Amino acid sequence: MHSSTLWRTARPAAESFCARHVGPRDGEVAAMLEAVGAPSLDALMEQTVPAAIRLRGAMGLGEGLTEPAVLARLRAIAGRNRVMTSLIGQGYYGTVLPGVIQRNVLENPAWYTAYTPYQPEISQGRLEALLNFQTMVADLTGLDVANASLLDEATAAAEAMALARRVARSKADGFFVDADCHPQTLAVLRTRAEPMGWRIIVGDPDRDLDAEAVFGALLQYPGSSGQVRDPRGAIARLHAAQAVVAMAADPLALTVLEAPGVLGADIAVGSMQRYGMPMGAGGPHAAYMAVRDAYKRNIPGRLVGVSVDSRGQPAYRLALQTREQHIRREKATSNICTAQVLPAVISAMYALYHGPDGLADIARRVHGLTAILAAGLRALSVRVVTEYFFDTITVATSGASGLVRARAEEAGLNLRIVDADHVGISLDETTTPEIVRAVWRCFCPDARRLEEMERALPEPGGALPPGLLRASPFMTHPVFHAHRSETDMLRYLRRLADRDLALDRTMIPLGSCTMKLNATVEMMPVTWPEFCDIHPYAPSAQMEGYAVLFDELERMLKAVSGYDAVSLQPNSGAQGEYAGLLAIRAYHRARGEGGRDICLIPASAHGTNPASAQMVGMRVVVVACDAQGNVDIGDLKARIAQSGDRLAAIMITYPSTHGVFEESVVEICDLVHAAGGQVYLDGANMNAQVGLSRPGAFGADVSHFNLHKTFCIPHGGGGPGMGPIGVGAHLAPFLPGVPQEGGANAVSAAPYGSAAVLPISWTYMMLMGDAGLRRATEIAILNSNYVASRLSGHYPVLYRGTNGRVAHECIIDLRPIKDATGITVDDVAKRLIDHGFHAPTVSFPVAGTFMIEPTESENKAELDRFCDAMIAIRAEIADIEAGVLSAEESPLRHAPHTVRDLADPAWERAYDRRRGCLPSGVAAADKYWPPVNRLDNAYGDRNLVCACPDMASYQEDAV
Ligand SMILES: *Cc1c(COP(=O)(O)O)cnc(C)c1O
Repeated sequence: MHSSTLWRTARPAAESFCARHVGPRDGEVAAMLEAVGAPSLDALMEQTVPAAIRLRGAMGLGEGLTEPAVLARLRAIAGRNRVMTSLIGQGYYGTVLPGVIQRNVLENPAWYTAYTPYQPEISQGRLEALLNFQTMVADLTGLDVANASLLDEATAAAEAMALARRVARSKADGFFVDADCHPQTLAVLRTRAEPMGWRIIVGDPDRDLDAEAVFGALLQYPGSSGQVRDPRGAIARLHAAQAVVAMAADPLALTVLEAPGVLGADIAVGSMQRYGMPMGAGGPHAAYMAVRDAYKRNIPGRLVGVSVDSRGQPAYRLALQTREQHIRREKATSNICTAQVLPAVISAMYALYHGPDGLADIARRVHGLTAILAAGLRALSVRVVTEYFFDTITVATSGASGLVRARAEEAGLNLRIVDADHVGISLDETTTPEIVRAVWRCFCPDARRLEEMERALPEPGGALPPGLLRASPFMTHPVFHAHRSETDMLRYLRRLADRDLALDRTMIPLGSCTMKLNATVEMMPVTWPEFCDIHPYAPSAQMEGYAVLFDELERMLKAVSGYDAVSLQPNSGAQGEYAGLLAIRAYHRARGEGGRDICLIPASAHGTNPASAQMVGMRVVVVACDAQGNVDIGDLKARIAQSGDRLAAIMITYPSTHGVFEESVVEICDLVHAAGGQVYLDGANMNAQVGLSRPGAFGADVSHFNLHKTFCIPHGGGGPGMGPIGVGAHLAPFLPGVPQEGGANAVSAAPYGSAAVLPISWTYMMLMGDAGLRRATEIAILNSNYVASRLSGHYPVLYRGTNGRVAHECIIDLRPIKDATGITVDDVAKRLIDHGFHAPTVSFPVAGTFMIEPTESENKAELDRFCDAMIAIRAEIADIEAGVLSAEESPLRHAPHTVRDLADPAWERAYDRRRGCLPSGVAAADKYWPPVNRLDNAYGDRNLVCACPDMASYQEDAV
């Protein structure tokens, strides 16, 4: 018998992973095809994707594997990483993530599958967690306002520099950087400064600072070498010269060292990694930024604020959103979109669990061990160079760094090799006396001598500078004292999670955001120690597993996209845009065409596109769209002609943000190339392309891939994400270099960005294989066409392709409803909450519309439930049109309905309670109750409060 027949029964009995990832069963697929009037899935693809760009063969990924097979493969890869005790420091430290936070936040889909809290009524849990984060950061830094996280310490430092340039009265063009900054921070500052024409001046702030020459400065506290210096002299001189001072500060040290704000700094940045997040070979970690009150309207990134709801109850929301890139576009000063919400939540919960005293205890213990380490080394006649320190010392080796390093590695330790004569040693929360002894042994292998030394060693005093001991209180709010037992913490985490709607409860049909399944099996490797407990700058011999993972992931992304090279460094889509545009800029300059500085961007583009373009010093020229939503080719030709030899690039999104596969995309690429420009194709919509078309093959030069959209990294409530870029061979030399080695175009602190979440995307592609990935795209397109066809009789579908088809998302137009009845998109979005749904994307890319992206993971029943809700809402709007009740009286205007409404003794509405609170189709037993009524947005921006309010403000109304 032929062996393939013989073993037929031995094939896995379970369904393929693809059938788990994709929602609709075969019968549902058939029913939906019939509903949209397509004879087959293939035929639907022919009608949707232009033939000119259609990929006809396979991508070359092979067959998908089963879940156990993929995990076994990944275990083998992980086994090639060597987990050592890393004492390298430089912004990455060992830490203990409490189990209750690991399991109930990091590994809990209620937290990790949530979306960015743009719909505040269904996001109160994560907004409260982020407000705790902001309060913690503001307290620790002694500044007034903190944002809700940035991507990493190095990009936060670059944002601080840009902020300093905006607010400083000094007209100088220099930015001073403390020579004792982490080297990766310096690399990212250089990248950001160069296109803007800012001069980076590196030196010792006490010796080399010429305050008149700079608009700002960054001081590291404690320094990368471990030295803690008093910054007050430098700050005074900088302030006298009207320059702005930022400090990069370690948040654990800040529990025992005086706060930057108290010392006079205007801005503080840093990494919250050591508050519970594993090193993860570089991330994800939350960076923080805090500023003086005067700069609060200039702070980049998201900012959570306190407002009130329609019943006057306190409620949280994202504040001052008009500052952000999606509104300001080319006038934006930062392109931050996806940030690090989940790591920020984890660090805030870590701080809550320990409280200020517990944190200071940890800090004192780390400092005490470091003092013992230093005293022991001195007793062994080893010179400790660092006079005042917190947790890090630099030690002279007299030419023996190599030997010390070899002994350290033998003992399972990584030290920082500064040069042939110096090593650095950083201790952390996980350090034990045994580790300190092991370090001593690296300098003195003689066991007897060590024993004697230890016996004779007096208890050393502290080595914190006496003038900088922390006197200011921090984390005094009751929330930092109320959750100390595990029971209390568990219930707090559950209470907050229950306030929010995430993917574990309902579809989240957000156009452009691709809220698809984040499979459990994909998430499991994230907390494996072989991936978590690796320092990003550990010796490469210890990262062989990661090297394999990066290599295979790059190979798969190249196969999917048709590009020649990939960089895994950018840690968000917007950072990918920035890295891609830097590559384009460098390419032109290398060819002697540095004058090319115009970036064409269609009016429909995502706000990060123009924001990224201005960050690389390009001038944005907007290209019009035609009545069908496509790039207006006539206008494009005119803009190209106007730009002449200044044309640098075009940034297009494909399929477009209007939800259609433009037929003219190849022509657009050709026109731009013919004029000497490069094509940046925003890959946020790859979920409509994987397996069907490849940007690198049909004319684009560079794209980013939002791994947190198409490739299954969960959104985490607004991060982490990853935005690797693919490029054609001609751009490969300009990809980001290794940050710590001062590599050109570095955009993140770590060489592979947030490496620890890369196993998610690797696992997804390995499970799906070639056919599975293509199937996912086809079903995503089918689902979207099905929703469009069910809703089109009730709401106009704004744009369609040539054959009347939409891509993986579609826009429905609610402007006519507003004109006729006064009912707004927001009213409809909030009414969807009463039905238990997260609203689609509101007013992007067209104001007054919804953009709906169902993804392949939703089955027909869930799509129908959503369409039924939309249709029921349309009937309520019809009542207003018919004059049955006014817009003000309608349940739409009062939405969302809460338990306070249900229990209100004074119900005086034009509709009954049941219809308001439990609209048709909603099962009472499964009802989701939003914790607050509709937010008052204007109130929150007028009365800006960005830290935890007094407990008194939470007193319940007398309802
Ligand atoms: C999400 C998105 C981006 C930005 O990606 P981030 O990861 O949030 O920085 C850019 N362009 C489009 C079209 C997007 O949908």
